[in-house]
This record gives sequence, structure tokens and C-alpha cells, in this order.
Amino acid sequence: MTPGNRRHAVYTGSFDPLSLGHYDIIRRGAALFDRLTVGIGINPEKSPLFTPQERLDLIARTTCELPNVDVACFEGLAVNFVRRCGAGVMLRGLRTLSDIEGEFTMALANRALGPELETVFLMASEGCSHISSSLVKQVALLGTDSQTEPLEQFVPPLVIEALRTKLASRRPAPRV
Ligand code: ADP
Repeated sequence: MTPGNRRHAVYTGSFDPLSLGHYDIIRRGAALFDRLTVGIGINPEKSPLFTPQERLDLIARTTCELPNVDVACFEGLAVNFVRRCGAGVMLRGLRTLSDIEGEFTMALANRALGPELETVFLMASEGCSHISSSLVKQVALLGTDSQTEPLEQFVPPLVIEALRTKLASRRPAPRV
């Protein structure tokens, strides 16, 4: 297998939805590599809140000021997607100790499947390590009574808008 371009990295995930933690990894990855592709993995066994196209649009619009970032959806193994992109690096983010275990196992599996690819980890920035897409969805679903928008700390503004629209019909009417 010919090695892919080591200056081109691919950052895969479900991004359901894109969080400020993901965005931080994208921004820093784009500064490290010549090109960064964000790959939205489509897992038929999961029922995501946002469709792949919605997730793609949100990432494309949020990263439009980063000229070396592109976004695509993929099905199947991430290593095969990285190969199709012609990239040589898989970029991952690390939040907590518990992330390390899972990410380490995945990196070893990916090395077995794609020995020509290298996995590079970026540590979450301060203030991002507690952010996950599931936390974002929980906060969005439960809503708030306060004047401030709690989602501002977790997701980019466009995603707040999309979450509001998506969940408007699902949120139970408040008890008075
Ligand atoms: P999520 O669980 O938020 O949907 P994924 O599991 O799809 O995210 O993760 C994609 C990659 O992004 C993984 O390497 C994960 O560790 C990383 N990541 C997710 N959230 C953050 C964050 N807040 N800070 C840094 N990296 C993150």
C-alpha cells in the first residue's frame, strides 16, 4: 500500500452535532497540516439527531474561514476513507483518561488495518475537555429557564440555531 500524503490529515467522528471541542481540534489540525478533511462517519446502527447532510452543512459553514479544511461523509471503515482521500494521517482528539483507553485501542486497530497510516492525537484545549455531543444534546433537550444561552459554551452559534429548530417540536411543554 503506497503511503498517503503525510501533510494531509483526516479527522473522523460522528459530529452529531459539531461541538466547540471538535471545532478546536479542526482549527488546530488545520494549522498543523497543509490540508485537513473532516470525515463524518455514517453508522447505520445509530440513530443520530442530525442527518449526515445537516452535519456536513453545519461543519462546512462553521469552518468556511479555514481555507484548507474540507468536509465529506463516509460509510464503512475510517482507514478506507482516509485512503480514498489520499491522506496519510488520522487526526484524533483526546479529552480525558477514559478517552485514552478507547482511542488507543482504535489507533492500534487502525494500524493493523492501515499500517501505512499514522494516527496523531491532539489534547483537548482547556475548557473543552468536558464537551461531548451527547452532553450538548442533553442540555439542548432539557432547555433552560435562565436568560443566558447555556449552549454557547459548548457549540458554535450556527449549531445552537440548528438545535433549536430541530428540537422545537420535541421538547415537552413546560409545566407551569
Ligand atoms: P462525539 O462523541 O462528540 O460525537 P466523536 O466520538 O465522534 O465525538 O469523536 C470524534 C473525535 O473527536 C474523537 O477523537 C474524540 O476524542 C474527539 N473529540 C470529541 N469531543 C472532543 C472535545 N471536546 N475535545 C477534544 N476532542 C474531542
